[in-house]
Amino acid sequence: MRSTDEPVMGVPGSDGRFGRFGGRFVPETLVPACEQLDAAFTEAWADPAFRAELHALLRDYAGRPSILTDCTRLGAELGCRVLLKREDLNHTGSHKINNVLGQALLAKRMGKTRLVAETGAGQHGVATATAAALFGMECIVYMGEVDMARQALNVFRMRLLGAEVRPATTGSRTLKDAVNEAMRHWVAVVDSTHYCLGSVMGPHPYPFMVREFHRVIGDEAREQCRALLDGADPDVVVACVGGGSNAAGIFSGFAELPGVELVGAEPAGGAAVGHGIPGVVHGMLSYLMQDDVGQVQEAESISAGLDYPGVGPEHAHLADIGRARYEPVTDAEVLDAFELLARTEGIITALESAHAVAWVAREARGGELVGKVVLVNLSGRGDKDVAQVADLLGDRYVGG
Ligand SMILES: *Cc1c(COP(=O)(O)O)cnc(C)c1O
Repeated sequence: MRSTDEPVMGVPGSDGRFGRFGGRFVPETLVPACEQLDAAFTEAWADPAFRAELHALLRDYAGRPSILTDCTRLGAELGCRVLLKREDLNHTGSHKINNVLGQALLAKRMGKTRLVAETGAGQHGVATATAAALFGMECIVYMGEVDMARQALNVFRMRLLGAEVRPATTGSRTLKDAVNEAMRHWVAVVDSTHYCLGSVMGPHPYPFMVREFHRVIGDEAREQCRALLDGADPDVVVACVGGGSNAAGIFSGFAELPGVELVGAEPAGGAAVGHGIPGVVHGMLSYLMQDDVGQVQEAESISAGLDYPGVGPEHAHLADIGRARYEPVTDAEVLDAFELLARTEGIITALESAHAVAWVAREARGGELVGKVVLVNLSGRGDKDVAQVADLLGDRYVGG
């Protein structure tokens, strides 16, 4: 048990638990690899030289710090002040680059020459392939066969970046199967290879390590907000939640400030925190979408990047202790928010991030945010989603 004066989003126990969630539920053969990674990360994260090297990479390659945009037209329409943390402006178009640069640098420090990753919609695979190209590392990305067909352009991007894309052909042939295959591969070649996991999930130390690599989002945003708001903090911080990494990154900058409300926006068809049941998958204990007999269920959402049936264990814990709340958002609300942000602010957002905007729009229109300052983590840009939205809404714009 952690005592109450410990930070809300601090270091988990050596067992990797956030309250009752998290841990390390892996086969015996994977335990040494996880322990080695845990030790290497702990040592590197305490080393100012590692931090400085990562900081320089984030600045000179990824384009950090990402800016904070004060949305005056959107704010006027909604009756509250909306600030966007612009992770969409990072190299490769989302927050994912923060994590992969951190893990690639750590892998190099550990003497590894290969990265293996899983990907669903392809965004994390592209980010990992990017980092591998930058570091001159070999890269293998497991992707469900079904996802490979649905996201052919991202498969091409990964190959262009020099990665090998391997189909996951088991189970439903989607993200959860790609994670299983990537882990299986890692066990066999752990001496040469680092498993670059894409969100705050999996066995300890991944949920903790990935959150720390995204902490930069929250640390920057807190200081940017204080500079803009004469030293004040926002009233609410909102982020979309798939596995939960962009949310964990921005929440970590505000979790120790009790006056700041934390909200995670989940797809209504995959509300792991809202409707999940505690269970073990991919090496962690967390809330999971399960059917009556405990089989992991496919999440369903308009945005492929949020189609993960579980959520990172720290979010399960934050929900449990009441520090953050997780709210479902429907596909229709997401499309509406996608259009709203484009029309009022000239920003075409990723459909994932539009979940966070959609929550703000719904609450504001219901009168819940009058006069409040709301900080939204805009996790990614929407170029990848425009063709899909045109299919869904194109009729509305004909001749317009
Ligand atoms: C991958 C992705 C997400 C979902 O992942 P989290 O780990 O929940 O952050 C959200 N937004 C964008 C733009 C993504 O690419």
